[in-house]
Amino acid sequence: MDKPTAPSEGTRKSMRANRSKGTSPEVALTKALWASGIRGYRKNVLKLPGKPDVVFAKRKLCVFVHGCFWHGCPECGQKRNIRPTANGDYWREKMERNRLRDERNVALLERDGWRVVVVWECEIKRDLPAIVQKLTQSLA
Ligand SMILES: [Zn+2]
Repeated sequence: MDKPTAPSEGTRKSMRANRSKGTSPEVALTKALWASGIRGYRKNVLKLPGKPDVVFAKRKLCVFVHGCFWHGCPECGQKRNIRPTANGDYWREKMERNRLRDERNVALLERDGWRVVVVWECEIKRDLPAIVQKLTQSLA
């Protein structure tokens, strides 16, 4: 049984998974871009809002690779791991703050004329070639 004060086992598992995998979805994406002959990007551009993971400055295209858990992926239902406990609220609020910050960063970038592509961790696992194709089209 879960203690009411601790995150549920599912939540802890997701947190551990996120930590141990580190930036691997991002690495998987840049490797796939490189393999497809896509060049001319920079990684982790700190001066732009939200520090986009991949930036094609000449094409004014930013790519964020979001971890499904922390950024509250709408696709894969990571949120379901959070139980309705007091701590569950804490994590939900944290994720909600992340989500709002993500939205604000996208709005700031778009205001400055950037195109923004958000890639979810689970999409990378599910269909990386489709993401590469989408980016290739955006850069054409
Ligand atoms: Zn996801």
